[in-house]
Amino acid sequence: MPGNLFIVATPIGNLEDITFRAINILKEVDLIACEDTRHTKKLLYHYGINTTTTSYFEYNKVKKGKFLIRLLKEDKKIALVSDSGTPGISDPGYNIIRLAIDNDIPVTIVPGPCAFVSALVLSGMPTDSFLFEGFLSYKKAKRRRQLEALKQEKRTIVLYESPHRLLKTLGDILDILGDRDIAVTRELTKFFEEVLRLKVSHAIEHFNTNPPRGEFVLIISRS
Ligand code: SAM
Repeated sequence: MPGNLFIVATPIGNLEDITFRAINILKEVDLIACEDTRHTKKLLYHYGINTTTTSYFEYNKVKKGKFLIRLLKEDKKIALVSDSGTPGISDPGYNIIRLAIDNDIPVTIVPGPCAFVSALVLSGMPTDSFLFEGFLSYKKAKRRRQLEALKQEKRTIVLYESPHRLLKTLGDILDILGDRDIAVTRELTKFFEEVLRLKVSHAIEHFNTNPPRGEFVLIISRS
């Protein structure tokens, strides 16, 4: 196994979306660092993986990060997984990856699902160049400033959003970027997977009558 820290992508919904290599690595490492151990244990149970897990998430990342680096320096093999998709993309994975690199620890990737890549290609919008902005701020003024900065953007824009902020964000997109084409993708690879390709104003009408549920990625057409 090349590397000590293995960044392992896991499914974004459908448990079958995992690579053979990911399963083997998760079986072989000394420890799996998970965002939420209860969540990851469902995946591990599904594949009969008994490796020890430990939590590594936003609020323990400093203390637990030091602990994990100590183990890595002792030549332990650790797999990093997040609740879904590719660790490091809009989740705390970034911090331990940076810390490992700064400590000259070999880091390698076991690639796989990532929500924004799936959403972008499903949207049917140009994929030759795009801007991934992740989550906009939950603070209205900052969110609006972030959108103002995207007004002249010539690339397809990709955003993550939670169901309870979806309508507010769509309202701000309409106000600031105008009534553009948008693909609202929801619950990808899951039972209620949905991709709506429509105008921002129609998306607002739709979610006013169908309250948003699940996980969303928004793909906004370039200006
Ligand atoms: N690391 C993950 C990745 O590789 O995509 C992203 C983690 S981020 C904390 C979680 C966000 O990803 C959700 O709020 C949602 O915007 C998006 N997401 C994750 N799974 C999704 C799915 N099955 N369908 C749509 N969006 C999803």
